[in-house]
Amino acid sequence: MSKLTRRNFIKTTGAAAAVGAMGVAAPAIANSHGNHVVVVGGGYGGAVAAKYIRMADPTVKVTLIEQNEYYYSCPLSNPVIIGIRDMEVQKWGYDGLKKHGIDVVIDTVTGIDAGSKTVTTKGGKFKYTKLVLSPGVEFNYAAIPGLTKEIAHTSMPHAWKAGPQTLLLRDKLAAMKDGEPFVMVAPPNPFRCPPGPYERASLVAHYLKKHKPKSKVIILDPKDKFSKMGLFRGGWKELGYEPNYIEWIPAAEGGKVTKVDAATGTVYTDMGEYKSSCINIIPPMTAGSIAVASGLTDKSGWCPVDLKTFESTLAKDVYVIGDSSAAAGLPKSGYAANSEAKVAAAAVVAALQGKPAPMPSYVNTCYSLLAPDYGISVALVSVFEDGKITKKSGGLSPSTASKAHRKQEAFYAESWYQSIMADTFA
Ligand SMILES: Cc1cc2nc3c(=O)[nH]c(=O)nc-3n(C[C@H](O)[C@H](O)[C@H](O)COP(=O)(O)OP(=O)(O)OC[C@H]3O[C@@H](n4cnc5c(N)ncnc54)[C@H](O)[C@@H]3O)c2cc1C
Repeated sequence: MSKLTRRNFIKTTGAAAAVGAMGVAAPAIANSHGNHVVVVGGGYGGAVAAKYIRMADPTVKVTLIEQNEYYYSCPLSNPVIIGIRDMEVQKWGYDGLKKHGIDVVIDTVTGIDAGSKTVTTKGGKFKYTKLVLSPGVEFNYAAIPGLTKEIAHTSMPHAWKAGPQTLLLRDKLAAMKDGEPFVMVAPPNPFRCPPGPYERASLVAHYLKKHKPKSKVIILDPKDKFSKMGLFRGGWKELGYEPNYIEWIPAAEGGKVTKVDAATGTVYTDMGEYKSSCINIIPPMTAGSIAVASGLTDKSGWCPVDLKTFESTLAKDVYVIGDSSAAAGLPKSGYAANSEAKVAAAAVVAALQGKPAPMPSYVNTCYSLLAPDYGISVALVSVFEDGKITKKSGGLSPSTASKAHRKQEAFYAESWYQSIMADTFA
């Protein structure tokens, strides 16, 4: 038995921590000098992939290319919209990742050539051995007649990428007259954060009840059901939101929007029209635009991947993780992106060391707030089985629970946020 020294103690416990977090065996450290992994997108997926590749093999050169100097987290951005959370606590920088020896480049990727293994940015070119892509989502504005990117950035914000959009919607809500509806257009499946629109509707209802009691949230939905629907609707009744402060109009009852008119602030459906100074349109989504432009998507608009490694099935040595990937069995969430990043990081390092990819497992937990002290959640643990991501365990918060239980879950939402952000950026 070898002696336990401070050095190998750190090595052992460090490796154990990595295994626990990754849900896969961490590859042994080996010299893979000369390998260059480029990671595009410094959000929930990309930042974690860059960090865990360096943690698994510190000899690999890792360059993270991100277009913005600061990252604003979507998780917990809905409370910002109703004015109970500061945008500053959503803001994260990249200094923590630099401490892991990652070269952080603030630049926009304009092209990916999988043939010559080159990433082009506005400012230069980067050759890679392996590329990890986590560019998030793009919006298909044209799918809603009358909607354009410009309209979304001025009068009908989506607030589905945190930052200026979040603040624009917050200001519109604050300026909305008591008695006007808050009109939300929900997106079709699949989309980033399936429970997100309904968390937002809940928190806006909480705000209206207090500040604009003659107003209500109208959700125009192209779907007939949604994530955690029983828990949301049970909570809406319990909290006195439905029917006075939330009206959910599903597809079957005319929820599908046919056009919008920004000049008059009107949203049209087959069954009626809705006017407001505060219209929140969350458009249909696709993979991030750089993934689409680089030919990494199929006709679904998302990037097909090998679910064991997250390597693209369309381009060798390119791994697509996070919202952009077509990962059947996992939601498009920050936690799933984190989990996929660790699976891809382990697969990339194993491949660089000439080893087979380890057998992955995947986790997701998603908290939603219906009020500042009322939280619900869904969790899953899955494995790779028969070429698919198969759920092994998990579930929802109980449908009946005490106020104290719901309050505890709201508290867990904040602690989830603090720990995943530390995992991502520290
Ligand atoms: C309102 C809301 C609430 C949410 N709440 C939760 C929650 O409670 N829990 C949860 O797990 N998930 C939640 N999500 C979902 C979560 O935000 C996403 O699933 C997650 O951000 C996906 O990570 P990603 O890495 O794929 O994309 P992102 O985190 O969006 O990161 C993509 C990064 O790539 C960069 N990028 C894109 N293109 C380029 C380019 N060409 N060049 C350089 N950089 C580029 C972007 O600037 C961005 O920083 C929520 C989402 C919303 C909208």
